Amino acid sequence: MKNDSQGMKRLAILGSTGSIGTQALDVVAANPQLFEVEILSAHGNSELLIEQAQRFKPNAVVITDDSKYLDVKQALSSLPIKVFSGAAALSEVVQWDTVDMVLGAIVGFAGLPSIIAAIEAKKTIALANKETLVVAGDIVMQKAIENRVSIIPVDSEHSAIFQCLVGENLDNIEKVILTASGGPFLGKKPNFLVNVKASHALQHPNWTMGAKITIDSATLMNKGLEMIEAKWLFGLRNEQIDVVIHPQSIIHSLVQFTDGSLKAQLGLPDMKLPIQYAMGFPKRLNNDYKRFSFKEYTSFTFDQPDYKTFRNLALAREAMEKGGNLPCIMNAANEIVVHAFLQNRVDFLEMSEIIENIMARIPFMEHPTLDDYFLTDKEARVLTTEYVKKSQLSIH
Ligand code: NDP
Ligand code: MG
Repeated sequence: MKNDSQGMKRLAILGSTGSIGTQALDVVAANPQLFEVEILSAHGNSELLIEQAQRFKPNAVVITDDSKYLDVKQALSSLPIKVFSGAAALSEVVQWDTVDMVLGAIVGFAGLPSIIAAIEAKKTIALANKETLVVAGDIVMQKAIENRVSIIPVDSEHSAIFQCLVGENLDNIEKVILTASGGPFLGKKPNFLVNVKASHALQHPNWTMGAKITIDSATLMNKGLEMIEAKWLFGLRNEQIDVVIHPQSIIHSLVQFTDGSLKAQLGLPDMKLPIQYAMGFPKRLNNDYKRFSFKEYTSFTFDQPDYKTFRNLALAREAMEKGGNLPCIMNAANEIVVHAFLQNRVDFLEMSEIIENIMARIPFMEHPTLDDYFLTDKEARVLTTEYVKKSQLSIH
């Protein structure tokens, strides 16, 4: 991996105002001798972006919501910081020579173009934005191979698998087992779920995260997206990917090898660990975070996921198995219904119904190009938005 002359890693942190982005900046602040912030980006939270820019003094910031450009530009006018706006600017700045590593921490499909641009410019990627791989994993991984780019996972399960695979031959993987906490509604049945509101679903038992992934965790779509993410990151066949419920969220995932041996990675549920691991890789960085103690956790439990109640997990498996543009359709529909659920415009169980419907209605393509993925995403968003509007009219 390329670093500047002092051995500092120069980072572009895309989505710096989010849950992952702010924690990545905590890691930078704790390791000023290792990291330098070159680029920061936000969508709408101009106040926090300004604060971050004043503190970390990047070379440039990008605010993708154009309407916030002047606020940011004015606030930073006395500092030598370049200010850009709009999504296209993201794909330009990540290609600068002064960037060594790009941390993809934008939420949703919106994170895809800048990651592609960064790979094309041969930047090392630390990837939190799982939707990028869900939507276009085949193309993203192919580009990474062609450009000899490493994609280091930030997602805790994939970081666990990555750590289990250090020193191993990928041909010796029999299967990977993704652990899932089960979210706040573990064990609940449809008669309970029918009444849950966004405020309940936003209370995850173990992790504090952005709103979209927190809802995805409650519906188990998050685990579905993670199956597809694992497939592409580690070059797995569908039948090599399993999910097990582990409510304590201490075992972050496991790899079973061809001799039957299992390796797992454990730790307290704190995203700063996988973020720091990806940013520091191949070095393991020291820290003083709270340590795991067997006195606090006297038992680990495991269970099978309830695919019937949490339909999204079954839909994601179907999308993974069928491939083509189906995961892209599912992802777009999911982004729209989660947004609507957060605004109390659709019910919890309705989310899966709508996603399933959209998956059946958008034409299937077996071998989409990158342009096809963009078109599919757009079409699925339009259709899902219409569907949400209609279902609102019929219910309320
Ligand atoms: P947040 O919602 O907390 O943050 C999202 C970030 O993306 C913010 O900086 C936001 O800007 C920016 N953003 C939102 N929309 C756009 C857009 N259209 N264009 C450009 N930037 C945009 O999300 P998280 O940090 O929770 O998650 C980020 C990614 O990491 C997701 O893909 C998630 O699945 C993944 N991930 C997150 C984990 C977690 O613990 N949070 C764990 C594992 C994976 P602004 O706030 O300024 O509007
Ligand atoms: Mg995860």
